[in-house]
Formats: sequence, structure tokens, C-alpha cells
Amino acid sequence: MLQIRGINAVSIVAPSDQSFPVTKVAACLEGDSGITHLCFVHCETTTGVVNPLRPMVELATRHGVRTIIDAMSSFGAVETSAREVPFDVLVTSSNKCIEGPPGVSFVVASLETLDSKTSETNSFVLDVRDQWRNFEQTGEWRSTPPTHVVQACAKALEELAIEGVVRRGERYASVRDAVIRATGPYASPLLDPRDRSPVCLALTARDIVRTQEDLDALYAHLVEYNLYIYTKLHLPTRSFRIGCMGCIDPMWIRLLGIAFEDFFSASFDESGSHPGPPYNRLMEKGHLTCQETMPTPK
Ligand SMILES: *Cc1c(COP(=O)(O)O)cnc(C)c1O
Repeated sequence: MLQIRGINAVSIVAPSDQSFPVTKVAACLEGDSGITHLCFVHCETTTGVVNPLRPMVELATRHGVRTIIDAMSSFGAVETSAREVPFDVLVTSSNKCIEGPPGVSFVVASLETLDSKTSETNSFVLDVRDQWRNFEQTGEWRSTPPTHVVQACAKALEELAIEGVVRRGERYASVRDAVIRATGPYASPLLDPRDRSPVCLALTARDIVRTQEDLDALYAHLVEYNLYIYTKLHLPTRSFRIGCMGCIDPMWIRLLGIAFEDFFSASFDESGSHPGPPYNRLMEKGHLTCQETMPTPK
């Protein structure tokens, strides 16, 4: 994105299954006094790593470098305080942990940053300062206001305020842990417990899910249970992801455990025969009763 906009940038490459090495960033900032901004992801959605927000911001601040944080998949579920962590700019949007519809993005920045006239912008659409000034001066959007999305988003923020960020994070973490338990016999979490975000979980099942084709087969199997996970295998780690955000019914996690059992035991089954329609078998096994609300099969 920076290249397209003609902005000079260096990237720091690090393994995606560990939290970010602050020492590597320190070495980079010490070695290059031309660096003015540091941009990084708070929660790395690909693997579910939570990166060390405070040490990174403190390091940058010591070097007089401004910080831009992609908090897309942490904001709303991982506590982030602008008072405690003096970042310069934090960006997120309505459609992840805020649990609103897609369509609104948020920028959290100091008034001083918003007011500064030091740099020219090269975009109309992305000119958040111009939009902010317009809000301040006229109370208006610069373009047609996305009224429905804003109303739904305001409602989502109201519900977040009621639940609270800490409790929402705990709710997601308990979904994550329930998914780990339900899939435990067949798949393992990619990350050390201390690096795991509550927001999404990367799993590996290295004997069975080695290629994208293997994951396609697991995906197609889960669809039979009306369960949908992220479709792409992350090749460097051979992991696949299950999201924990949103309003997840504990029933779906039980169903996921059963679906995994069926898939992985069938994979070991020498006859290779498909075990048959899932709902009937769930009834037979007594896992489900007719009184339970079932998701509608496709
Ligand atoms: C989802 C996500 C994005 C992209 O968000 P969009 O809503 O698709 O623009 C960027 N960064 C991170 C860390 C994300 O999780």
C-alpha cells in the first residue's frame, strides 16, 4: 500500500507464529535515523498472535518515531488505552470485535495530530483530517452519509459498552478455549498460550491437513454441518484459522467437535467410506435431541 502511494518504507520480517521481536525493531530504528513512522499490527489475524503494543510504542517514542497501529482485530476485545500507551494513530473498523456491519473505519488520534498541518495528503477518500474538520465545523459527512451502517454501528458500540471490552475479550477467550478442547484430539493450537489472542485461533493437524487441498476437504466436510471457517491454509505454518469473535453459540462448538471427530476418524478409516449424513448420526449417538435448535443445513 505504501509503495503504491509512493511512500518510502522498509519492512521488518519476522516469523508469524511468534509475537513480534522488539529487539529487531530497536536494531532497525538505531540503524536508520531517517525513519519517521512505525506501523504495525496489534493482533496478527493470520496466526492470532498478540504483538507487544506497549514496548513497541515506548521504543518508537524514545526514538522520536510516530506510531500507527492496525488494531483491526483487537479493538473491542483487547484493552487498549490511549492514556496508558501513548501511540499516535490507531486504526480499526466496525466489522470485527465491535461486532457491527462492515463500512465504518475509526481513527483514534490526538487532537494535536489531527490539527497538524505538516504534511499534505495525497488522497481525498483517505483524508481523515479533512473529514474530521468537516464534522467539527458543519457536523456533516463530506459524502452521502452511510446512515444505516452508522446506526447499526452506534447500536453495536452501545452493546460493547454494556458488555465491556474486558468481558468481551473473556467471552472470546472462552470460545477459543472451548474450540481447543472440542478439536483437541485431532488438531493443536499453533501458538504458545501466552501469545494467543482471544479473537482467532490458528490450528494445525499436520498428519492430515498438509496442503490447501486437504483443507478444502475439511472445509467441505464442515459445510455439511453448516459450519464455516476461514478457507485458506497458511502455508508457512500449515495452519488454518477459526474465528472466535461475534455471537458464537456453544452448540456450534459441540457440533465442530463432532464434525472433527467424523472427519479425522474417517481419514484413518481404511474402508475410506463416508460416515453418512451428520444430523442423523448425531441423533443416533445421543449428542443432539430434537428439542435442540439446529442450524439449518444448507
Ligand atoms: C481484517 C483485518 C484487516 C482488513 O480489514 P478490512 O475490513 O478487510 O479492511 C487489516 N488488518 C488486520 C490485522 C485485520 O485483521
